[in-house]
Amino acid sequence: MKDKTKLTVAGRPHHRPAHPVNTPVERASTYLFPTYDDYVEGAKSITYGRLGTPTHRAFEEAVTALEGGFETRLAPSGLAACTASLLAFVEAGDHVLMTDAAYDPTRKFCERFLKRFGVETTFYDPVAGEAEIAALMRPNTKVIFAESPGSLTFEVQDLPALARAAHAKGAKLIVDNTWSGGYFCKPIALGADVSLQAATKYLVGHADCLVGTLTSADEQTAQKIYYALLQLGSNVSADDAYLALRGMRTLSARLERHQENAGEIVKWLKKRDEVERILHPAQRTCPGHNVWKRDFTGASGLFGVVLKPAPLHAVKAFFNAFKLFGIGFSWGGYESLAIPVKPENYRTATDWKEEGPVLRFHAGLEDIEDLKIDLERAFIAMAGARK
Ligand SMILES: *Cc1c(COP(=O)(O)O)cnc(C)c1O
Repeated sequence: MKDKTKLTVAGRPHHRPAHPVNTPVERASTYLFPTYDDYVEGAKSITYGRLGTPTHRAFEEAVTALEGGFETRLAPSGLAACTASLLAFVEAGDHVLMTDAAYDPTRKFCERFLKRFGVETTFYDPVAGEAEIAALMRPNTKVIFAESPGSLTFEVQDLPALARAAHAKGAKLIVDNTWSGGYFCKPIALGADVSLQAATKYLVGHADCLVGTLTSADEQTAQKIYYALLQLGSNVSADDAYLALRGMRTLSARLERHQENAGEIVKWLKKRDEVERILHPAQRTCPGHNVWKRDFTGASGLFGVVLKPAPLHAVKAFFNAFKLFGIGFSWGGYESLAIPVKPENYRTATDWKEEGPVLRFHAGLEDIEDLKIDLERAFIAMAGARK
């Protein structure tokens, strides 16, 4: 089956002669076992609410179908998926290689939290080659963590090369696959041990709940992920698992439109004098563009724009003129967003050399002509403020 079909059939109920199309919400903490023996034998798929109800299992099954791999587990947010994935494989005295373009809270978890427990982190250039990565590996390196493309700066990483470097030393490759929605990129097929997503973004797709997913390539990896989540007391509400599964049903249609709108906006922006550079994996100017062409089947709606240097009050006027692009955290919902970002504040292994303001856009599902009018309005306000 192809992805578009999998998204419509995976995780559907099939236990009754007549049943709802989608798996409904089953809320529960306590499950009752019919007999003493059933209780003692426990350890079935469904035992206690924190370990998931049939609603969670259905969403997990659908994500596994999409990402490939052995099994998917849920975390209460995308960040919780990132942190649990690291905690699953490291102990005091270990070492982690973390991409320099990581989502900033993932970076902070290494710098502030793992450090307190005696785990050291080295940040690496997201476009470093296999030999450079191999040179950074130590005997105690347990994880290479990748995020492709990188947060804010969109470098596309060579996942097969990272997988070879990790596996040569018995380490795991964990990939934050949020940008592709699991639809445009398949890290497990490229050699990753864990592919995780902030399902909050494209899987949920409607900006109304937070969930993380962790898909493991094999049983031994899956068991470590499961125990980390279990021991942390991680829980996802059945309602949120349901919303995420419901969102997934339309993932292919939404992502195709996000891709199309982002592509149109990029084309429009490239003609503007105010624009210095576009940070979008499908653009030749994006670091790792050739890797994107090799390993991805498309591009989602999130990208960056570097403007030519402009005074702060002009940038403020640009943002304040928007009627459609919202100023807000997160992305992946149906709505368009724009925020100012400062990549130079979030990197230590590489330099950010651009001088002009950097903007991050999420192209939503609105009509493209309306979005262009909104952008035009913002540039007019910016020019007005500079006079
Ligand atoms: C948003 C995001 C996260 C965190 O997800 P939350 O659900 O907001 O915790 C992790 N990684 C990436 C790449 C993200 O964009």
